[in-house]
Amino acid sequence: MTTSVGYPSGSSHSTGLIDVDSLFCGKLFKDKTEMRSQMRMYAVKHSFEFHTFKSDNKRYVLKCIDEKCSWRLRATKAKASDSFVVRKYISQHSCDSALRNVSHRQASARTLAGLVSNHFAGGKLPLRPKQLMEIFRNDHGVGVSYSKAWRAQEHASELARGIPADSYEVLPSWFHMIEKKNPGTITYIKADSDNKFRYGFLAFGASIRGFKLMRKVISIDGAHLKSKYKGTLLAASAQDGNFQLYPIAFAVVDSENDASWDCFLRCLKTIIPDEENLVFVSDRASSIATALSVNYVHAHHGICTFHLQKNLETRFRASASLLPIVHDASRAYTQYDFDYLFTQISNGDPDLGEYLWQADIRKWSRAYSPSNRYNIMTYNCAESINSRLKET
Ligand SMILES: [Zn+2]
Repeated sequence: MTTSVGYPSGSSHSTGLIDVDSLFCGKLFKDKTEMRSQMRMYAVKHSFEFHTFKSDNKRYVLKCIDEKCSWRLRATKAKASDSFVVRKYISQHSCDSALRNVSHRQASARTLAGLVSNHFAGGKLPLRPKQLMEIFRNDHGVGVSYSKAWRAQEHASELARGIPADSYEVLPSWFHMIEKKNPGTITYIKADSDNKFRYGFLAFGASIRGFKLMRKVISIDGAHLKSKYKGTLLAASAQDGNFQLYPIAFAVVDSENDASWDCFLRCLKTIIPDEENLVFVSDRASSIATALSVNYVHAHHGICTFHLQKNLETRFRASASLLPIVHDASRAYTQYDFDYLFTQISNGDPDLGEYLWQADIRKWSRAYSPSNRYNIMTYNCAESINSRLKET
């Protein structure tokens, strides 16, 4: 998932390693590039270094780094193809393995990545550079610096998941299959005039069907993505009767702006109709407010009280003692309780009272909310989902 739009599983990169038994006279490699990367991994895996004696478009000749050692390999290009074939191979070393170096000349980040790419396949969480350093040392006897391990991690992710550009390219067919295998799923892709990716939207059929049973309070929020193309992940989520997070829809967009929120909410409206007893909870970003006022005319737009509270902490430092009362007021269940607390706030600091009044008490107080917000006064659920997804 760069994020929900995921990497394709299975890529064209071959990561099958050769071992002692599969290297022999007559062995065929797809081409020289393939052979070179396989031989580098072979050397790292078997804790020896080689010296490239000859390498051109017809020949590839390797010798053990120890001049007196017997290990050598000679391959030549096959006729009428790019393949390279092993013609001569002496597999036994006569050198002293104890003298072999821990900082290995064939152990480039790319080669090391090939040795560990299986740890990255199938959506597994990527290993951290420190963990890779341990694997290289314990399993392959190679000491690797942190920065090299970090680069190996990058390459290994690419080998296992493909590069982001390829992922965006297969997105339409991936969406197509998601819709086919998950009845009721809604996807949408918008490209610009050069046919470059702009927006992608995804809501699983099961999420859409299940929302009928949820409280009608939807948290919406955006989170920055860290992949090569950056972008922002937008998510809409609800809470089930057991206060568990319930994801509804995702989108990948360029950033949080009027156009991207408008696109997201227009898509969302095709699965969740605009009605009076529906409530959205978000931060106070004007792009969200604008997009909601266009696409969800009847629904109520509440703001996240946690963010309001944070805002007040910096803006009204002098009235810090009143802020706990603001917190209680926002959560008061009756208008009578709210009014009592709000009078205390206004008497204590008229400016704070005015500021809160302007922020619209219908948006931040439970008691005056035109629709039932239940216990959902913050958009914590949208944030939790986004932070959970960001990793993958
Ligand atoms: Zn040797």
